[in-house]
Amino acid sequence: MSIRKLALVTGSTSGIGLEVARVLAANGLNLVLHGLEDTAAGEKLAEEFEQAYGRRPLYCQADLSQPEQIDQLMQTIEDKAGSPTILVNNAGIQHTSPTESFPANMWDKVIAINLSAAFHTSRLALPGMQAQGWGRIINISSVHGLVASVNKSAYCAAKHGLVGFTKVMALENAAQGITANCICPGWVDTPLLVEQFKAYAQDNNTSFEEAKQGLISAKTPYPDFVAPSEIGEMALFLCSDAARAINGTALPIDGGWTAQ
Ligand code: NAD
Repeated sequence: MSIRKLALVTGSTSGIGLEVARVLAANGLNLVLHGLEDTAAGEKLAEEFEQAYGRRPLYCQADLSQPEQIDQLMQTIEDKAGSPTILVNNAGIQHTSPTESFPANMWDKVIAINLSAAFHTSRLALPGMQAQGWGRIINISSVHGLVASVNKSAYCAAKHGLVGFTKVMALENAAQGITANCICPGWVDTPLLVEQFKAYAQDNNTSFEEAKQGLISAKTPYPDFVAPSEIGEMALFLCSDAARAINGTALPIDGGWTAQ
């Protein structure tokens, strides 16, 4: 049986998810784009992809903090495009605050979007991968799935949780041609970091651009951001047959952050 490769990338209307989607599309994969944007904005992006890569992706809107919307998302994909055999759980949010003042509702939201959503999409995608005897689950964790930083209790809990969850899926599905891995990026210049740049600039009385450099040098020996497309290339490699034995790992792409 030939394997039908269809990739769902969650949160693929901006930042890392968008570049992962671009790299997969540029390498001939069929895609499902997902985001919070309405159908008109999603279709505009799908049109752009069609013009750039010669295939029109399906676009689906869903709020991944709501499990019933995830059920609906996965059913819509099944009905319109078939089961995804590549699942990139990328959607995520950040909130920073000391633990004692961390708003309880933000804790719940960070865990729901960054961790529980990956459980729900995976549990719904796995039967299709098992039926095909091939699958790739790629969870975008973080260096904060491996080490901690202050003020990121919910984010670190979610990203560490994602690493553990990924290992379990890897063990459960290793004999069925399915791999599950985490990619653990360091600093990537995306909308997710804007509030942290602003806070750093204010606390240190620097410009927004100086704040970016300040945050980089506080954590990584390599003096630059990781490019979103570099994460896309790593995801592409994990989708290849050469990566069939890479399973249950948490792969840093972090400019040396976690080597210290
Ligand atoms: P981003 O803000 O550009 O992208 C986040 C995406 O998640 C957006 O497309 C957004 O629409 C989507 N999203 C947010 N809430 C959602 C919800 N309730 N339902 C559905 N989708 C939702 O930021 P990014 O940096 O590209 O983040 C992508 C992933 O990379 C996240 O999981 C993030 O934790 C991880 N990450 C980012 C960095 C970094 O430095 N930027 C580092 C390590 C890991």
